[in-house]
Order: sequence, then C-alpha cells, then structure tokens
Amino acid sequence: MTTAIMDNSKFFVYDGPRKDVNYPIEVLYCGECTMPVEYCEYYPNYERCKIWLEKNMPDQFKKLMAGKGDENLGSEETEEKKKRQTRGGRGVIKAKKKTEPQGLKLSTATRGKKKRVTIVAGLATYDIDLKEASKYFATKFSCGSSVTADEIVIQGDVKDELFDIIPEKWPQIDEDNIDDLGEQKK
Ligand SMILES: [Zn+2]
Repeated sequence: MTTAIMDNSKFFVYDGPRKDVNYPIEVLYCGECTMPVEYCEYYPNYERCKIWLEKNMPDQFKKLMAGKGDENLGSEETEEKKKRQTRGGRGVIKAKKKTEPQGLKLSTATRGKKKRVTIVAGLATYDIDLKEASKYFATKFSCGSSVTADEIVIQGDVKDELFDIIPEKWPQIDEDNIDDLGEQKK
C-alpha cells in the first residue's frame, strides 16, 4: 500500500488492483477530443463529443449520460437554463455595484455671470446624507450650499479645501478616492 506516502497528492493514490475491475483496463478514447471518454465533459466542445460518442460508442454514451439528470434534457432546454443562470448572475453584480462607494468627483463651474461654484458628486454612494453634508459645507465655508439630484453645489471655489475637509469629516473616504475633474464645461 502506498496510501500513507501519497497523502499529499491524493489524485495519484494507487491502492492496488480493485476487485470490481477487470484487468487490463481498457481505456476508451473519444474520437472528438482524443481524451479518455470520462473527461469529455470538461472539453469545451462537449456537445460534439456527445454526438461522436452516441454514434461510435452507444453503450458508453448511455453509461456516461446515466444519472446526469438535467443534462439528459434536450439541448434547447439546457440552453434556456444557462440563459436563466446568466441573467441571475448579472442581476447580482448590478445590485452590488449600487451599494459600493464610487469615489467622489469634485469640479468647479461658473453659474450666471461670474458666480463660481464647486460641485461634489458621489457622496451618496458612501451612504452619506446629502442634505446634512450640504449643511455641513455651508457652515464650514460660511456660504450657500444646495443639493441638486445626487450632487451638492457649494457657492464659491472651495475645491482645494474639500480634499482636506472631506476625509476629515468622513474617514471612510480617502483622499485618493476623490477625483479632481477640474472646470466643468457648459
Ligand atoms: Zn470527447
């Protein structure tokens, strides 16, 4: 017995001849993928293997298909199943994106004739209440600040200060998560 030595590489454990197997073992190779037929299902073109097996080794094919449940279904139904799985997967990714912090984007713009404003976008993705944040900025800079859609517009150009103030007020936002988009073009 070699089991003890081979403990770390169990894929190659050889336990000696098995009583339920007739020796020498006849390995059946697939004419489509050239692998032993047991490995066909790992071949990307498994569907073509199946066709080859069904034609050339009908007995073997039946054995391989036995007990596979759903895979015995017509290919149309299998396709439908795959599609459904893919759809579910995409949904999960989307939902995750929504709650993940997206980073902040700061920019400045000119409103009216010579009025400069600073626009803060992305705070909501950190679950920060925009109204409260807007109030905080207004107090901090002694200026007007308002919430429009998912952005905060602060009167005046305070962008440089924000790089220090935001991570200080909300430690979950790192300075590296804040992008400077510069001046917004109309
Ligand atoms: Zn094959």
